[in-house]
Parts: sequence; structure tokens; C-alpha cells
Amino acid sequence: MNSRGYMLRLKPVFTENVWGGTRLKSDFGYDIPFARTGECWGIAAHPHGDNAILNPEFAGETLAGLWKKRPDLFGSLPGDRFPLLIKIIDAKDNLSIQVHPDDAYAAAHENGSLGKTECWYVLDCPPNAQLVIGHNAGTREELADMIHSGRWKDLLRYVPVKKGDLVPIPAGTVHAITAGMLVLETQQNSDITYRMYDYDRLMNGKPRQLHVQQCIDVVRVPAEPAESSVIHAQEMGENAWGKIYACGYFNVYRMNLDGQTTQQMDAPFVDVSIVDGEGELNGTKVRKGDHFILTDGYGQQNWSGKLLAIASTAERK
Ligand code: ZN
Repeated sequence: MNSRGYMLRLKPVFTENVWGGTRLKSDFGYDIPFARTGECWGIAAHPHGDNAILNPEFAGETLAGLWKKRPDLFGSLPGDRFPLLIKIIDAKDNLSIQVHPDDAYAAAHENGSLGKTECWYVLDCPPNAQLVIGHNAGTREELADMIHSGRWKDLLRYVPVKKGDLVPIPAGTVHAITAGMLVLETQQNSDITYRMYDYDRLMNGKPRQLHVQQCIDVVRVPAEPAESSVIHAQEMGENAWGKIYACGYFNVYRMNLDGQTTQQMDAPFVDVSIVDGEGELNGTKVRKGDHFILTDGYGQQNWSGKLLAIASTAERK
């Protein structure tokens, strides 16, 4: 190990989704395995997807394995699982209307799993794009009533978004990514989704399973105001890491680089995804589609090039 720590380069994992498309290949150059590839898990250490580490000194290791063997690389954070999961999502079609539980509900009802707070950085979207964020029910009774009677038009709240917006989705927020969106998602390392409504779509001739009671249990009522549900991050982080979002689980940063900069972050680890352009970090070439982790004690980051990067960190414990 050199004095900088490691830049752990990761091999993404892909998922097949009924709503997925081919932009992960056409826009990002990934060798996608499915005709409908919905998600690239760029930084993942989950039983449903675990990145291989590409650095020769960690040949044969995965991120989940390294988390257990070398906690020092990740600030010796507590917990039996790497805390974050970073995805790029290609929604060719609408995703189901869904909600995720918080830690307490997941622990009690999902074998001690973590809950899921997530956020989306909008990489691309159609003109006049709208996302489902929140709902219009005033009470839990009204929420249950609207769900049971299928009054989706009245219940669901659509919020306009554009490229470069950051959309926080705390656990308990009704949400759906809509057709034509390309987003980078930063989330807790959990894969628990309660589906409220799936537009009555069929997959292999059958509707996908819904989780109506769980949805009624975990949805926050009333929803957060629509005005506070989108952060306009387009100008945040010019030639330096700019913090665009912070919650108890993670901090998210954006850097739009054109030239050179020297940066430093004190964090147990730094997840980095290059979402546009190319350049160098401490002499190593990086380009659009690369995902890597800077380990604890990495120190000074000397960046050059023309690129857009999104990073995330967890707090030291
Ligand atoms: Zn979600």
C-alpha cells in the first residue's frame, strides 16, 4: 500500500428489468448482458450483486469480501455490510410506483435488513420530464382508501425535473422514475422495495407482485412539500467537490471539472462515479462509466481533464 491508500477499481454488475433499455451500452459503453438492462450496479456489495475488484493486488476479491477482510480500508466502520450502493439506472419505461421502508421497519419485517433512503442525480431526461415524488393524501386512512380504490391520478404527485437536479428520496417517500430518465442513484445498501402500483403491466403474462399493506404501513403521511423535493445542483461543484446533498446515511458531491484541481476529503472512504468525459486522478486515467473507491487515508486527489463526477461518503463512526 502506498501512502495514498488505494483507488479500488470495480467491475459493475447489471440487472435485467422489465422497464430497462440499452442506454447503458449506447451512452456508457458497457457490455450489457440483457436486451432490457435497467441497472448498472457500479459500487455494490450486496448478496444480489457484488463487484469484483479489478486491482491486481486484490485479484479474486469482491467488495463484500474486502469489507470483511480489510475493514481498515473503509475507516473500520461498524456494520456487517458496506453501507452504500451506487447505480446508474436506464428507465426506458416507467418504473413501478414504490416505497422503501426505514431501518426500524426493515429490521422488524425483513430479517434485520437495512432500510433504504436513496437519492437520484438526473444524468439525462426528456424535455418536461416529471417524476413521481410524494402523494396527496392527508391522512393514512385517506392513503389506504385511495390505494384500495386505485385513485392513482388523485394520489400520486408529479414533480418536474431537469438534467443536473438531485432528488432526495428518504425512506417512506412514494416515488417512481419515469420513462426516458437516466439517473445515478446513491442509496443505502438495501434491496427492499414495496410496490404500490405497476400500471397493471404483465410480465410473463402475470402482474408483478404488489405489497399494498407494507406500503400503507411505511408511507410518510403527509408527504414532504413538493418545493423541497428537488435540489437544483447544476452549478454546484465547479472544478471542486461541491456537496449537493447530505442525510444521516450519506453525503453526495458533484464535480464538474475542466482543467486541473487538487482536492482532499476526510471520509472513511469515497465512492466515485465518472458520469461524463475523461481525465486523470493522480496519474491514473479515468473515463465515463468508471466507478471506484478511494480508501481511508487516500489523501490528496490531483485531478485533471474534462469530466463530470459524482461522489459519496459516509460519516466516520
Ligand atoms: Zn426506489
